[in-house]
Amino acid sequence: MTATLRDVVTALDTAYPPALAESWDAVGLVCGDPDEPVARVLVAVDPVAETVEEAVDAGAQLLVTHHPLLLRGVHGVPADDPKGALVHRLIRAGAGLFCAHTNADRADPGVSDALAAALGLTVTGPLRAASAHPLDVLAAAVPVDDAERVLDALAAAGAGQVGDYSHGAWTVDGTGRFVPLPGASPTVGQLGELQRVAEIRIETVLPRSRRGEVLAALLAAHPYEEPAYSLHEQAETASSRGLGRIGELPAAEPLQAFTERVAAALPATAWGVRAAGDPQRPIRTVAVCGGAGDSLLATAAAAGVDAYVTGDLRHHPASEHVESGGPSLVDVSHWAGEWPWCEQAASVIADALGGTVDLVVSQRRTDPWTIGATQPLGGPRGEC
Ligand SMILES: [Zn+2]
Repeated sequence: MTATLRDVVTALDTAYPPALAESWDAVGLVCGDPDEPVARVLVAVDPVAETVEEAVDAGAQLLVTHHPLLLRGVHGVPADDPKGALVHRLIRAGAGLFCAHTNADRADPGVSDALAAALGLTVTGPLRAASAHPLDVLAAAVPVDDAERVLDALAAAGAGQVGDYSHGAWTVDGTGRFVPLPGASPTVGQLGELQRVAEIRIETVLPRSRRGEVLAALLAAHPYEEPAYSLHEQAETASSRGLGRIGELPAAEPLQAFTERVAAALPATAWGVRAAGDPQRPIRTVAVCGGAGDSLLATAAAAGVDAYVTGDLRHHPASEHVESGGPSLVDVSHWAGEWPWCEQAASVIADALGGTVDLVVSQRRTDPWTIGATQPLGGPRGEC
């Protein structure tokens, strides 16, 4: 049996649901024909010239990356544009490109699970949990005779779907009241006169991602000029999905040894691994976030962990965090912190498609920093 690109995409979308991606993100298939056969896949962190060449050289029909190629709006992919050239190179070689970015960050397991496993941590949960299925709650008052039609329109737009049930809604009879003012063209009643209308109040839930479609359906199906409705976000509930992970080491070890553990576990980079904090501080509980985890510094501190491992940390937030007694910080290369995910994504495809697809994990170091010059830490040189 030969797998198609569609089979691989289905496997990846199941493991890393696109609905988990940030609204600004660009995930999924960038190029490639879903009906084409796929015998070999290369998995990498970055869609850059090195990994595109690696995919072509390996005879892969698909390059899977964590980072998107076309994150900002594009209206063309001309071959004389650096990113357009990569799209042309892939298509000419008969290869597709698929990206799983913030959806892979939030999924369970996701990017930070791979990082935690590489460091020898036993994961206990997400650092910042994401709601498993973000929902809105919609309530609207509808004249009795129109209620069924409006309910059907809401259901057709995606409201009322909970688990294996559709058309979910709750209704109650009531009385609506209003006074049409000059300029109004009321469906019911006269200008300037108080109207009382037998109505049904409909309450239903909807996936937050369907908010626009469901509201449009309500306004189109409702007979009134100005339908009365309210829309609320349902409170977030804890789940095993979310950004970052918290984990535990088998036994406490000094920050110095833990930093060396991180360096040994991740691919080498010019920058290496650096840590902030007392080298003798015992480290047992650890928060990790693949990629850039600056924004979760306060969350890691609130979690009460001994250390936080992430990338792209900046001077002031790191300095203030350490000064305020937060967890020790271990700063790794953004690329290195996400590289362990490549094996995870390869396993997702292998598990779903058995031996029909050959999986290759990129060995190219696509960290943009290519030179590291170490300096002996002597006495202070200059105050700044
Ligand atoms: Zn990243």
